[in-house]
Amino acid sequence: MTTSPDLEDVLSDIRACRACLGDLPHEPRPVVRVFPETRLLICGQAPGRRVHESGLPFTDPSGDRLRDWMGVDYETFYADHRIGVAAQAFCYPGTAPQKHGRSGGDYPPPKRCATLWRPRLLEALPRMELTLLVGGHAQVWALGERARASMTDTVRAWREYAPDILPMPHPSWRNTAWLRRNPWFEAEVVPYLRQRVRGILYA
Ligand code: SF4
Repeated sequence: MTTSPDLEDVLSDIRACRACLGDLPHEPRPVVRVFPETRLLICGQAPGRRVHESGLPFTDPSGDRLRDWMGVDYETFYADHRIGVAAQAFCYPGTAPQKHGRSGGDYPPPKRCATLWRPRLLEALPRMELTLLVGGHAQVWALGERARASMTDTVRAWREYAPDILPMPHPSWRNTAWLRRNPWFEAEVVPYLRQRVRGILYA
């Protein structure tokens, strides 16, 4: 299938975007991976340092955990164009300095990115069936007043947003303790996610 003109245009504009030049501690390098066939969109926070370097989303331990949750292997994740990745911001925002001996987390995604690009990008994806809202930033932006007071509460209310949207925690190692505290996520939400992914890829 050839790329629809709208999607081709918006992707080309996004890849050329330098709106955050001067605000980021490095040259912007937008990372986005969607196709005319995309039916499942993964919307995380922003690329991390490793993705900034590789130019491919989720080529990191977070990606390994996400693929495990989805029930897809590395090859399928990148080869099947029904899976797309478009984070809340497309450029790595940089990492906060270490504090009290602990490595700092990444800075929040630049807010202007979603405002500038998301409506146009989503409009150019007519086959969308399921959006994974990965982490609080993506949930607040996409759900607005429908988001609960915290990421945990929003994910716990996942049934309210089905079948178009599935809110999830970020698969980062930083959330390992969260996963231990909230075993219902892997017991209830992950099986639903795998079933939906199977339905989109193999039905
Ligand atoms: S984060 Fe978004 S708005 Fe900022 S430079 Fe990258 S693509 Fe442009």
